[in-house]
Amino acid sequence: MANPKLLILAGDGLGPEVMREARRILDWLHKRRGVSFDVEEDLVGGAAYDAHGVPLADSTMAKAQAADAVLLGAVGGPKWDSLPFAVKPERGLLRLRKELQLFANLRPALCFDALAEASTLKYEVVAGLDVMIVRELTGGIYFGEPRGIETLPDGQRRGINTQVYTTEEIRRVGRVAFELARKRGGKLCSVEKANVMESGVLWREEITKLGAEEFPDIALSHMYADNCAMQLVRNPKQFDVIVTDNLFGDILSDAAAMLTGSLGMLPSASLGAADAQGRRKAMYEPVHGSAPDIAGKGIANPIATILSLAMALRYSFDLSREADRIEKAVSAVLDGGLRTADIMQPGKARISTSTMGDAIVREMEQSLAAG
Ligand code: NAD
Repeated sequence: MANPKLLILAGDGLGPEVMREARRILDWLHKRRGVSFDVEEDLVGGAAYDAHGVPLADSTMAKAQAADAVLLGAVGGPKWDSLPFAVKPERGLLRLRKELQLFANLRPALCFDALAEASTLKYEVVAGLDVMIVRELTGGIYFGEPRGIETLPDGQRRGINTQVYTTEEIRRVGRVAFELARKRGGKLCSVEKANVMESGVLWREEITKLGAEEFPDIALSHMYADNCAMQLVRNPKQFDVIVTDNLFGDILSDAAAMLTGSLGMLPSASLGAADAQGRRKAMYEPVHGSAPDIAGKGIANPIATILSLAMALRYSFDLSREADRIEKAVSAVLDGGLRTADIMQPGKARISTSTMGDAIVREMEQSLAAG
């Protein structure tokens, strides 16, 4: 059988630095676990603009379409800030999301015990936290028509955006969330504002119907978005999987993410529709940006990118055991007191990007020796 195809787009700023460490994990998996990918690398963002005059070349887009998964670093930086909107580095990312039709954004909020002390919430509220937020990514108020700013006859101006969802848009993201709940703790909380929005009423009806038809084994609950925001900071461990729309998901996933500490720790996945074999187009990337303030200094935290690779192994390549191995290795390294600058705590050892990569590979090797 042909090797699965992985396209790596390291991007700008600290992208290449953190991606180098993810590549070392891939090399280890190849050498020690016999897991082989056909890996291609290409340019995105400012780096692609410098080479081709566009933030994503058509040839790169074609490679992304042909790949089983894309692993992306980060894009952007001051060098490209004054470019016209159409060729800004971020447009490369948006093109990938749009043309791969990645409608489900998975944002795990996972709190490693060793970092729970560093959270702004109490240790017992966040220690052991493991929530998955599924955000609808291609519909809703960010895309709905009509939109714009108009001038009224009396001279006032009016800004308009439209929240709009169809049955199919709700059901396809709902299905991703139900399937995840089935692989995790068996609980799904669907979040909207059905009390004040018709699109929320439809959302609730469709998710309820989908649950009854296809996922009767999943414990489904519903919550209004404002209450969900409150519950996420009051008692986040009550949640397993949350599914919500583009706007509420944008806000709730950032709030949930920050329960767990640094941006340098947070992975994400964006998934498209399943084909006849059940394979989905997919892109995996850290939540953080290109961090121009620390790029090139060798001090960036590579864990968000390494955990994004772990998500790729789990969701695109059916390699959950190897994904678990990576996550356990990260946890063990943190338990051992090693920290990059962004997650430094008193009494711990501050290490570089590559030393963090070394430490994670060493833990993976040890897990193998331990069977
Ligand atoms: P950022 O995420 O790049 O950085 C925010 C802060 O977090 C900075 O202090 C940075 O040093 C720190 N940080 C981020 N990642 C880190 C890591 N792995 N290890 C240690 N510290 C880390 O956000 P920003 O500063 O608002 O944006 C910088 C550039 O990145 C901009 O050009 C922006 O447009 C772009 N951006 C890209 C993406 C993306 O590629 N997905 C996302 C957000 C921002």
